[in-house]
Amino acid sequence: MRWEHLIPSEFEKAIKEHSLCIVPTGSLERHGEHLPLGCDMIIAHTVACLAAELEPAVVFPPQILMQAHESACFSGTVNYPSDFAIKAFSLLLKSIAANGFTKILAVNGHGGNSHMLEYFAMSNLDKDEGYTFYHFNIYGSVTEEEQRVIDALWESSPYGHACEMETSLFMACCPGKTKLSLAPKQSIEPQNRFSHLKSKGVHNALWWYADYPDNVTGTALKASEEKGKIVLDIYAKSAARAIKAVKEDNIAPALRQEFINRVNNKGDL
Ligand SMILES: [Zn+2]
Repeated sequence: MRWEHLIPSEFEKAIKEHSLCIVPTGSLERHGEHLPLGCDMIIAHTVACLAAELEPAVVFPPQILMQAHESACFSGTVNYPSDFAIKAFSLLLKSIAANGFTKILAVNGHGGNSHMLEYFAMSNLDKDEGYTFYHFNIYGSVTEEEQRVIDALWESSPYGHACEMETSLFMACCPGKTKLSLAPKQSIEPQNRFSHLKSKGVHNALWWYADYPDNVTGTALKASEEKGKIVLDIYAKSAARAIKAVKEDNIAPALRQEFINRVNNKGDL
């Protein structure tokens, strides 16, 4: 159920029954010439809404005030300074929790957000904001059998961004908004400009740009809404399993309280 669609009595009933709020996290950033800028935001929101039909929870409107520094060089990207983005996300979740939600699950559809979500989660450990925070990557938790079904769909590689897979998924989430004729005519392969660093275990923040300076992988020419519907169904089920696990979890909230108590009793903060 979508937060913005609920009337007050439905909202209060939903909090009593589930106490979990899902926050879809995406971005506004270029996805090649053929996909709209809101691709990740729309995919994350669609997956979250479908998952919440399978495993009821309240879904907050999708967030784009996140982390997209890696796309800052492309027109269409909206990106905030890191301290502001973390603060804004923190205040948003605090306000969601003030409505009575004791658990918040970020359902993420933008790869760049995983860095921010991980840091946000860690930096929140020693604060008692009244809720337990979880985060979930929509691409990260399918079964082996589901992954086999997904892998068998594609007629091109590599996939990763604005590729056949992501384009198909977007087409299923938002029919009629993709301009496939503008997709790359030839597959875009990684440029491997950091192979000398990667091979030595050294990381640099431009790792993605070094491989894909146009933020596009492979080619989406063979993408289709039909393929996307198969993937969307799998990702919705995967996200529903995550929602169920979070709803049933008693351990993380108890440990959070225990940890906060120890922080508060430490006496030197
Ligand atoms: Zn994307």
